[in-house]
Amino acid sequence: MIPPSFDYHAPKSVGEALALLGSLPDAKLLAGGHSLLPMMKLRFAQPAHLIDINRIPELRGICEDGANIVIGAMTVENELIASPILQAKLPLLAEAPKLIADPQVRNRGTIGGDIAHGDPGNDHPALMLALDATLVMQGPGGVREVKADDFFLGLYATALAEDEILTAIKVPAFAASTGWAYEKLKRKTGDWATAGAAVVLRMSGGVVSHARIALTNVAPMAIRALDAEKALIGQPVNAASLAAAAAAAEAVCDPAEDLRGDIEYKTAMAGQMVKRAIASAAARCA
Ligand SMILES: Cc1cc2nc3c(=O)[nH]c(=O)nc-3n(C[C@H](O)[C@H](O)[C@H](O)COP(=O)(O)OP(=O)(O)OC[C@H]3O[C@@H](n4cnc5c(N)ncnc54)[C@H](O)[C@@H]3O)c2cc1C
Repeated sequence: MIPPSFDYHAPKSVGEALALLGSLPDAKLLAGGHSLLPMMKLRFAQPAHLIDINRIPELRGICEDGANIVIGAMTVENELIASPILQAKLPLLAEAPKLIADPQVRNRGTIGGDIAHGDPGNDHPALMLALDATLVMQGPGGVREVKADDFFLGLYATALAEDEILTAIKVPAFAASTGWAYEKLKRKTGDWATAGAAVVLRMSGGVVSHARIALTNVAPMAIRALDAEKALIGQPVNAASLAAAAAAAEAVCDPAEDLRGDIEYKTAMAGQMVKRAIASAAARCA
C-alpha cells in the first residue's frame, strides 16, 4: 500500500530537528524507516510531517567515554556488528544484532529507532535492560537521561516525550570475566522473536555474583525477570538453578497469542531461552 501524503524535512543538526519537532503539528522522526514506513503503509500511522534525522552526523557513531560505551542513536545494526569497540568491550551488542531481521534491514535500521519504537518484539529493548543501559534524550528543556529500567512503559509506550529525540545510548563496558548471551527463538530467519532472553552474568567462587536477565516479546514490553535473577545469585549454574530461574522468568511472562504461538507455548519458550542464555553466559564467564 502507498502511505498517505506528508511533508518531508531533512534537518542537519539536533537543534534544527528539535525546532521542527516542536513547531510542526503531527510530526514524526524518520530514522531507518523500517518500522515507521510499514506502519504508514498500513495507515496505522499518518504523520503530516516526517523529520528525517539521517543527515545529522552527531547522532551516529560508537565511542568510549570513561567506563561507558556511547552509541549514537542513528547507528545502524551493521555498524554495531562491525564495531571493534563493541566486539572488545561489549560483545553482546555486537553479536545480538546478527539475529535482527535480515541484511537489508540491518543496513538501515537504527539502534535508536529500535528502542524508541517501543515494540515488545524488537530485540534492543531487552538488551538495554540486561546491559543496564542509559538512554540519553534531548528536548526543548535540554538533555535528560533515563535508565532502561524506567524507559519501557508499555505497548509502543516509552519515556520519550513527543518533542524529544533519543540521541544516544550509554552502556557500561563489561567488567573482566563478564558472561553474556542473547537467545532468540524465531520461526525463520528475519522474523521477530517468539521469545527471547538476554543475560549478563558474573561468577565468583563458583557461584553467580551478578545477573541481569531480560525478556523479548513475552509481555506488552521488554521486561526484566527480577525473580529469575534472584534465583541465580549465590548459586552455581546447574540443572536446579537453571530450572528455578526459568520457572521464575515464566511467572512474569504475559504474552499475547498470535501466529507465533499461544500463551502457554510462548511462556514455556521464554523459560527455555532463559535456561540456554544463562548456560551460554556462564560458559563465557571464565
Ligand atoms: C522485515 C523486518 C523484520 C524485522 N525484524 C526485526 C527483528 O527481528 N528484531 C528487531 O528488533 N527489529 C526488527 N525489525 C524492525 C527494525 O529493526 C526497525 O529498523 C526498527 O524497529 C526501527 O528502527 P528504524 O531506525 O527503522 O526506525 P523508524 O522506523 O524510522 O522509526 C521507528 C519509530 O521510532 C521513532 N524514532 C526513530 N528514531 C528516533 C530517535 N532517535 N528519537 C526518537 N524517536 C525516534 C520514529 O519516529 C518512529 O516512531 C524488522 C523490520 C522489518 C521490516
